[in-house]
Parts: sequence; C-alpha cells; structure tokens
Amino acid sequence: MIDRIARVQALRIAAQRDYVTTAGLRAPTLPSGADPRVLNRNTGRHICIYATRAETLLIQITTEAGVVGWGEAHSPPTPRVSQALVEDLLAPQLVGRDPLAVEAHWDRLYNSMRLRGHNTGFMMEALAGVDIALWDLKGKLLGQPIYRLLGGPFGVTDEAETVRVPCYASGIPGATLDERLQAAEAFIERGFTAMKLSIGRGGFDEDLEQAETIARAIAGRAHLTVDAHGCYDAHTAKMAARRLEAAGVRWLEDPLPPEDLDGYAALCAAVDMPIANGETECTRWQFQEKLRRGAADVILPDVCRAAGISEAYHIALVADLYNVPWCAHVSTCSSVHLAASLHLAAATPNFLICEYPNPLSPNPLGDPLLRQPLRYEAGHLIVPDGPGLGITFDEEALAAHTVA
Ligand SMILES: [Mg+2]
Repeated sequence: MIDRIARVQALRIAAQRDYVTTAGLRAPTLPSGADPRVLNRNTGRHICIYATRAETLLIQITTEAGVVGWGEAHSPPTPRVSQALVEDLLAPQLVGRDPLAVEAHWDRLYNSMRLRGHNTGFMMEALAGVDIALWDLKGKLLGQPIYRLLGGPFGVTDEAETVRVPCYASGIPGATLDERLQAAEAFIERGFTAMKLSIGRGGFDEDLEQAETIARAIAGRAHLTVDAHGCYDAHTAKMAARRLEAAGVRWLEDPLPPEDLDGYAALCAAVDMPIANGETECTRWQFQEKLRRGAADVILPDVCRAAGISEAYHIALVADLYNVPWCAHVSTCSSVHLAASLHLAAATPNFLICEYPNPLSPNPLGDPLLRQPLRYEAGHLIVPDGPGLGITFDEEALAAHTVA
C-alpha cells in the first residue's frame, strides 16, 4: 500500500544577525572613500538588497502515516512569495499522490506554469523547496541517504566510509584589509584551503589591490577566489581578470551581469583564469544555453534556487556534457540548503567544491536548529549519512524561530 502525501506546509523561519541595525531591508552601500571621479569606479548598481535579518522558507511534506520530509525555498528577501506559491499552487497538486515519484512530480509542477513563463525566480525557488522535501521524504521512506538514491557516492571516502565534500570559506569578513588578512589566517588555521573574497563595492583599484594582497599572503597555503557581483562591463572585467590572474586568484565569479552572455563568452576566451557564474540560472535549459555559448568555465547552481535536487542533478549532467565542473552556491540559509548541496555533491561526477558561508560567524538558522550539527573537518563537510537529508530539526529550537 502506498503511503500517500497528506500535507504540504510552508513555514518561514527567521533570526537576528550581527549586521542587523534596523527593521526592513538593507540597501546596497558603497564605502565613503570611493572616489566617484575615478574611471572604472564601481557604482553599486548591480548589488542586491538583503533582508536585515536571516530568514528563509522551510517546506514540510507529511505522509498519511506521519513520515515527514523537509525542504527549503531560499527566497531572499521575501520568502512570503514562495510561501504563497507552495501553499496555493504546488501543495494542491501533491496531496493524495505517491511521494516516491519525485521526478514525475517535478515535471508536473514545472509544467503547471511553464507556458506562462515561470521558469526562474520565486517559482523555481518554491519548486526547489518542494522537490528537496520530496527527496528527504523518499530517503526516509526507503531508509537511504539521498546521495545513495542518486547513485553516489563519488569522490573520496575514508576507511570508515565517511563521505566528505571539499568546501571553501565564503566571504572574508572585515572592515579593513588588515582585518581581512587576519580572517584569512583564521580560515587557514581551521583547515580551509580555499576562500572567497567579495568585491564590487569599492573603487576598482582598491578592490583589486585587496584581492591581490590577500591572494599573495595565502599563496601556497590556500586558494583565493573573487566574487565581483556583476559590477563590471566586459572591457573592465577583462582588465580585472588579467590582474587577478597574475596574482594567482583561482577563479573570478560574476564579473558581469548575468544577462551578458556575449560578454562572458568573450571574457572566458580572453583569459586563462576560470570564469565562474550561474547562481542566477535555475534550469537545465538555461545552463545549456550558457555552456553552449562558452559563457562559463565553472558553474555555480544553487539547489534552493535551481528548482531542487532533481533539476540541479540534471544541471550538473548538462555541465558534464561540456566538461565543465559545478560548485554548490550556498548562502545564509537553514541546514537543509547545505545538506541538500552535500548530497548532490556526493552524487555527481563533475563536482568541484561547496560554498560554506562565513564559518567564523555561525549561522543562527543553521546548526542551532538541529539536534546534531553538520560536521566540518579540515576543509571538508561530512555528508550526513542518515536517511534522506540525514538531518533532524530540534523541534523546540525550530518553533522558537518560526515566524507566526
Ligand atoms: Mg556569488
């Protein structure tokens, strides 16, 4: 007898973060020292706004027998939009169905809005949350971790058969170069061999000088990657890439706005350093177009944006057609996001490295909401080995962070 889907619920969770000063949204800011007369200044035009607190949307799918799967629709900065999509559009299409038919559900839910053009953004984030919850549920019903259901693990396992995924410290915190150099050293002390610097808010030279100094300071011990948040035009991006390449930077992420595929293709052809992008795109078709045009050397799909585990798995395989590696994009989120990324990483042949948002500033929606924290060891995250995602929420902690 099939244990059918009884309920699909969406709950918003939130917590204060250290950058919180006021309620509402945080607008992009530029440092006061940025000189507007300098050619190639960064205007801040492309920098996203952020919520002033950590918040995300969890999806809970429950079967008639009471088995529960969890997913996440990371929808910054307005998770209420995805909540409405899940509750009003996706849930009614799932109740009463067989939870094991995950790919078939994905296809039906995607098609339900396809000809209306809802193939990106909040719709795909909502679908991601539902799809991840279905995979968690499937793993629990079958008693297997998701990476095994997908045919993994690939990659290194130790004698205890622990599945490890390499990760990098994302975001080198600090208000000054000295503080960032100290943070980079702290990451190395914790075993990280790769870390990412965010630029694009300061002046062109000031930004690049910081990146060059950090890259040279950690050379031989750790790699630096640089995320420019789409702040350049194609010509300026080429100048920046050549400088960063000379300093040994491992890759340049999002130097151009995501729509500028021709600019990306020209940049990829012009420099040897890998050009990374793809946190914006959500489907196999969008990534195929990007890769067919030679517009990325490394892609960075985000499982909670790119329509969930089912579609992110397809995206990884599309990238493999082009011999391009993929890296997991992860931002401030619940542990569902990180765990889903780790299972996908362990189940795909062309996975490179997983983003681990600033490990020096613990995420209030991450480990504190779990009965057992996710394990980090020497530059690697351990893939949880329990059924499904392999994580269990602490119900009291979760309730305390749930938005009424
Ligand atoms: Mg990025």
